[in-house]
Amino acid sequence: MKIEFINLREIKMRLRSPFETSFGVTQDRRIVLVEVSADGVTGWGEITTDETPSYNPETTQTAWHIISDFIAPSLIGNNLAAASDFPERTEGIRGHHMAKAGVENALWDIEAQQRGVPLWKLLGGTLEQIACGVSLGIRENPQSLVKKVEEELKSGYQRIKLKIKPGKDLASVAAVRKQFPDIRLSVDANSAYRLEDAPHLKELDEFNLLMIEQPLYWDDIHSHAKLQSQIKTAICLDECIHNARHAATAIELGACRIINIKLGRVGGHSEARRVQDVCRQQSVPAWCGGMLESGIGRVHNIAMSTLPGFTLPGDVSASHRYWDEDIIDPEVTVSPNGTIAAPKSPGLGYTVRRSAVNKLTVRQESWKVDAVSVPA
Ligand SMILES: [Mg+2]
Repeated sequence: MKIEFINLREIKMRLRSPFETSFGVTQDRRIVLVEVSADGVTGWGEITTDETPSYNPETTQTAWHIISDFIAPSLIGNNLAAASDFPERTEGIRGHHMAKAGVENALWDIEAQQRGVPLWKLLGGTLEQIACGVSLGIRENPQSLVKKVEEELKSGYQRIKLKIKPGKDLASVAAVRKQFPDIRLSVDANSAYRLEDAPHLKELDEFNLLMIEQPLYWDDIHSHAKLQSQIKTAICLDECIHNARHAATAIELGACRIINIKLGRVGGHSEARRVQDVCRQQSVPAWCGGMLESGIGRVHNIAMSTLPGFTLPGDVSASHRYWDEDIIDPEVTVSPNGTIAAPKSPGLGYTVRRSAVNKLTVRQESWKVDAVSVPA
């Protein structure tokens, strides 16, 4: 595929309600979208950075810088045999996985369209339906959380995940577990605890949780191994796992029994596929995490979640849980039994609503080879 056009744009989208995690509250999203054309075919990717360097070191602005100053200038006009060639082409750029993933995933969309197959099939997906869970932000009090959980269960979601932080943990989990003794329930701490908190985290063992996600330091696999040996609840790693080698290390050290895979965090579809392969070989369940994505990131997540290693419900949920109006057509919907059907048409299988995207755009920058007409 000859890369003829790259367009980077930042869109502003407001979440329907604020989302609170252990590192802060988000409502206004600054999302960078990547549009790439090759051989006359256009593909889309989404950069899943946060606005601030709180989840990982990347931000909306660092992703823009890396693509604008390094990736786009080196890619434009070049020929790639396949989307899977992209990681090697950008090996010289250390880190910045989310920036790279936005571009790589757009190339996968192009390749799937060129081959006339849905992206999920091109990736090697086998699941025609993916199982969905929801991630619930920290709430004022346990009562309002229980009410929210009830609502989500009524919508069919198969797993409930509660964000926790010190002081907003045991009482919330206890209230939800008391009301719903049998549901698949997990918690996510986003690195809010320290190894010294092990006795406190051990108190979560009585709630029969599916997992506790990333309780400790975002960059420390070894401490999680020490914690896992002290608690019964399975640890799931999120922030710590940046590639398949990290996944293999974490599993070998006993640092986790479950892995959350995020397309952006691991650098795109190529590496995500390798991470789930490691999980599968080691019989470690994997699932797809969310980053408050717009529809474009969401449908890339759907494609990834069809891979056979994804054996637990992910955080991929309906568009309307996040946005009054999503930027894809149709919007992502979830069936009454908590599943999303893999799309049938080539590429992403959803149409990007260009007029909606244009309206939300606050800045853009393009690269093109001479004599190529730009998509309207
Ligand atoms: Mg997480």
